[in-house]
Amino acid sequence: MTKENRKIKVAFPHMGNVSIAWSAALKKIGAEPFIPPYTSKKTLSIGTKHSPEAICLPYKLILGNFIEAIEGGADYVSMITSPGCCRLGEYGNCIHQALIDLGYEANYVEMRLYDGIKGMYDYLKKVSGKNDPILFARAINIGIRKMFLLDDLEDALSYYRAREIHLGDAEKHYNKALQMIKDADNTRTLKKVKKLVFEEMKKTEIDKNRDVLHVDVTGEIYLVCDPFSNQNILKELGKMGVQTRRSLTISGFIKDAIIPKVFRGSETHLQRAYRMAKPYLMRDIGGDSLECVSDVAYADERGVDGIIHISPFTCMPEIMSQNIFPAMRENCDIPILPLIMDEQTGKAGYLTRLEAFTDLMRRRKRKLEKEAKEKLSV
Ligand code: SF4
Repeated sequence: MTKENRKIKVAFPHMGNVSIAWSAALKKIGAEPFIPPYTSKKTLSIGTKHSPEAICLPYKLILGNFIEAIEGGADYVSMITSPGCCRLGEYGNCIHQALIDLGYEANYVEMRLYDGIKGMYDYLKKVSGKNDPILFARAINIGIRKMFLLDDLEDALSYYRAREIHLGDAEKHYNKALQMIKDADNTRTLKKVKKLVFEEMKKTEIDKNRDVLHVDVTGEIYLVCDPFSNQNILKELGKMGVQTRRSLTISGFIKDAIIPKVFRGSETHLQRAYRMAKPYLMRDIGGDSLECVSDVAYADERGVDGIIHISPFTCMPEIMSQNIFPAMRENCDIPILPLIMDEQTGKAGYLTRLEAFTDLMRRRKRKLEKEAKEKLSV
């Protein structure tokens, strides 16, 4: 292939499995997705070395992803931007400047997610140099559909992992299912794959009668969705017999920020957040704090066994949420475990906290069941 007709290599930062969705969209427009190595300790140390010390963990990891992508040969690095009261609004400029200062020459391009479909359209136009509404609609369509399926698959993994008889069995089937989603290159194939991936998960041998705990995981969206940055919390909980439900997902975010209102159907996460965060928090204060506060009330309403709140060290909106949780105890009787992550977080200490929290939830569950039985027998 000559230099002139060589496809442009476009990279995005990692955040869980999101690379599968954006790769599909980029392939549709004729660009070559460049997937940097999945975030690792090396990525973290590169990002940390070139970041302000007190900046939040996602910034450091994203910068590390970009540097690894450029060094690997990416022509473009893409950043998602949003307005808002927290540092995310400044991330784009800071990361771009950091790359220039370090002498990296890749093109830096932003996708303004809060502009909805228009933001995605403008982004695709920039990286492809084309202006083809039908092609772009197809690209956005397959990217979004893959993301929804990936999140549903993650929920299924959580169900099977908490009940699997042989450790690692659910993940083995999940990886096969993931590959099927990766390989589906058009929406027709993806529809067929949708059925197949859940059939694959059903092959996991499970103990249906296991006494499983149910825990919601909320917090800053990057940390909730990215296993490296949250120290693979969903997997660790699964091994302890806990089924998790991520309160924040990328597909939930897409529903709120990208899909037009008329196509949304049921109440979105953000709509529920405005309804349920009252009276503890009356307005959006940036990041995901409004959602997190409402997620505690929502978990309590559904009677789940506990909720874990994960946030990056120095994240202003999540510091606010954590300070609101004690005030919620009056109305919400649910155990809450706040976890703060940064590049110094060690796995052993955090596993001990998870084990202690799981013990607490089990004892509480037994106590509540006993009290309910006694009430019935009176
Ligand atoms: S929400 Fe928190 S972690 Fe995310 S960009 Fe804002 S301050 Fe940083």
